[in-house]
Amino acid sequence: MNASVFFKSAIAVAICLSLPHPAAAQRKDNPTADLLTELIRVDTSNPPGNTGRLAELLATKFRPLGIEVEIIPTPDPGKAHFIARIKGDGTKKPVLLAAHADVVGVEREKWTVDPFAGEVRDGYVYGRGAIDVKGGLAVFAEVVMRLAKNHVPLHRDVILLSEADEEGGLYGTTWLAESHWNVMDCEFALNEGGWIMKDARGGVQYVSISTADKVSIPLIVTAKGTSTHSSMPRPDSAIFTLSKALAKLADYQTPVELIPSTREFFETLAKTSEPPLSTYFQKPDQQQRPQSDSGGGSRNQ
Ligand SMILES: [Zn+2]
Repeated sequence: MNASVFFKSAIAVAICLSLPHPAAAQRKDNPTADLLTELIRVDTSNPPGNTGRLAELLATKFRPLGIEVEIIPTPDPGKAHFIARIKGDGTKKPVLLAAHADVVGVEREKWTVDPFAGEVRDGYVYGRGAIDVKGGLAVFAEVVMRLAKNHVPLHRDVILLSEADEEGGLYGTTWLAESHWNVMDCEFALNEGGWIMKDARGGVQYVSISTADKVSIPLIVTAKGTSTHSSMPRPDSAIFTLSKALAKLADYQTPVELIPSTREFFETLAKTSEPPLSTYFQKPDQQQRPQSDSGGGSRNQ
């Protein structure tokens, strides 16, 4: 869910919309792409995270279809969760489709397009959040709207949650679950994480499911030492001690440890990927350096 800010500082992100080239003539046939463009144009950089505006935009799409909609403001002004629900016959518990509406900030000088224009180039929509995760939000929203438009009979309610405050804020799904569990109570939820990868021919190469995510551990480090005038620094200065501790943290490398599910994941990738990629996922004693690999890429174990 919460990929690192560093990763998301890439120059531009894009989501493939499966449009043939050139895309311009095809855009009118792709409402999901159009919705994604609209979502990107609402700047929800967090902070401040104006997800309330995006919730209002979604409401204008859902209400005309007769879909039950609720906007839940958070204690942080401007941030709001959006809930849409279509009813099933109640024989099964609901399924929740959840995606966060906020995005991390941008370093505009590193972008080759306006990050909040939702520009379409060669069949791709470019913009902040196109991948993480307004693309996913657009897909989930379109699914729910199509179910409603086509009056698809359902055993379970389908709930769409456009989440207010995922990128480091205080009022994300944890807050929503604690304060409004009734709106999101479900048997299971689908969220970002995992990928559906296409192969070179446009077919499905593999579908992955993420069962866990890296988590951060906030630490408060306190150092104590003798206070002196800066002209007479002492070796037990609290600043020096703190600096040494931070340097140790910076140099720390987490040991690689495979658990059964990650081992199976890499073994499956070794079987399903084309060479040379497939060789990177094999056990070290089975690896042979492929002839075509002259780029010196690192192995992915
Ligand atoms: Zn995300």
